[in-house]
Amino acid sequence: MSGTAVVIGAGPYGLSTAAHLRAHGLKVRIFGSPMASWRENMPAGMLLKSPPAASALSAPKDGFTLNDYRRRTGDTPSLGEDGQVPIELFIRYGLWFRDQLVPDVEDVRVSSVDRQAHGFRLKLSSGEELQAAAVVVASGLTGFAHLPAPLAAAVPDGPSVLSSISHSSQHAGLSHFTGRRIVVVGGGQSALESAVLLKEAGAHVQVLTRSAHARFGTAPTAGPHWQPDTPLGRSWPLHAVVNHAAAFRLLPSTTRLRLVKRVLGPCGAWWLKDRFEGVPVIAGRHITGAAAGQGGVTLITTATDGRSHSLEADHVLAATGYRVHLEALDFLSPELRAGLDRAGGYPRLGRDFGSTVPGLHFTGLPAAGTFGPVQRFVCGTSFASPRLAASAARRCG
Ligand SMILES: Cc1cc2nc3c(=O)[nH]c(=O)nc-3n(C[C@H](O)[C@H](O)[C@H](O)COP(=O)(O)OP(=O)(O)OC[C@H]3O[C@@H](n4cnc5c(N)ncnc54)[C@H](O)[C@@H]3O)c2cc1C
Repeated sequence: MSGTAVVIGAGPYGLSTAAHLRAHGLKVRIFGSPMASWRENMPAGMLLKSPPAASALSAPKDGFTLNDYRRRTGDTPSLGEDGQVPIELFIRYGLWFRDQLVPDVEDVRVSSVDRQAHGFRLKLSSGEELQAAAVVVASGLTGFAHLPAPLAAAVPDGPSVLSSISHSSQHAGLSHFTGRRIVVVGGGQSALESAVLLKEAGAHVQVLTRSAHARFGTAPTAGPHWQPDTPLGRSWPLHAVVNHAAAFRLLPSTTRLRLVKRVLGPCGAWWLKDRFEGVPVIAGRHITGAAAGQGGVTLITTATDGRSHSLEADHVLAATGYRVHLEALDFLSPELRAGLDRAGGYPRLGRDFGSTVPGLHFTGLPAAGTFGPVQRFVCGTSFASPRLAASAARRCG
């Protein structure tokens, strides 16, 4: 069937997918706010956890990696002490990639996608309606922010920067917390880096984590030399998930879901450890209750020995991650969502990233349930985008 391919989302996965679709000569429309998650949902001053080599968007031709961008444009601010990429540089790179390869991104929201006899009917926030032969959902983290139940119960109107409980995705900067008592909940890179940025901004910050202590990873080249290097680190397990994403799909779904959770699980980057020095950590505690009011938040936490403690803060910043659940993709019609086979909240995908609704593809985080943890990272675009584009080209061409 010939027709338009639509990409929903203009982050690393959407931009890369659209570039590959274009290279197949397809008519493509791509909707979304370019690099929005990086501009609006992550704190200014953040350094990427992934090294430069693992922070490139896949393009259909050579010359469009982060390092190419730096070389070609002369945008060469110093990287972090250990070669880390500042978020501001990564955003400029993403916008340059857009300008070079997908200049006609339309900054509008897709408000609904419905199935019709031959393909899909979409409505946009601009009021326009259109038809598509194939749809690629590349909406990334949008809608998947997760808050532990006691925190969610304390803010019935939802977390927000203006209330006393927020999710880390609601902050594009943390400098306004100077002088305030902040509890950061979580033990991953987002929690530990937010705590460092808060400390450096003059906030009184504590980290509350379920783990026995704050954990930090090792340098990408730290493993034994007989282990293989990958863009995400040196080890056989990483080599397997980075280079064999196609085979990952063939594992039983319970194994896949366990690996997606565990491989590259919550821990801070090795280079963050020194800057984290001096941040108090309340470890081994679960939040079992929370009360939020004008004056701040009281958290009830329970330790592994069953004893409860209470903790006061002006603000609780929940860096508690993202959980894929398809009901959050409310722009997909209930009929479409009902037609999607799932495993643990993730859509079940074929080897071409197609879902059980013909013509509807998913890439990025929702594809991690099928192809593994590499889909949670920018470097996963090099596996996903060429495959997905080749399949959509067959459908639309
Ligand atoms: C704090 C933090 C730090 C991270 N650091 C790293 C790192 O160092 N390295 C790394 O590889 N990964 C990192 N990640 C993961 C990273 O977010 C993903 O790898 C990457 O952003 C995924 O890209 P994406 O295109 O799938 O989604 P996103 O970047 O989330 O982009 C989603 C896009 O979808 C659009 N959109 C959503 N809904 C609609 C709609 N209905 N209509 C139209 N458009 C829509 C948005 O406007 C946006 O353009 C980090 C994540 C977080 C939270």
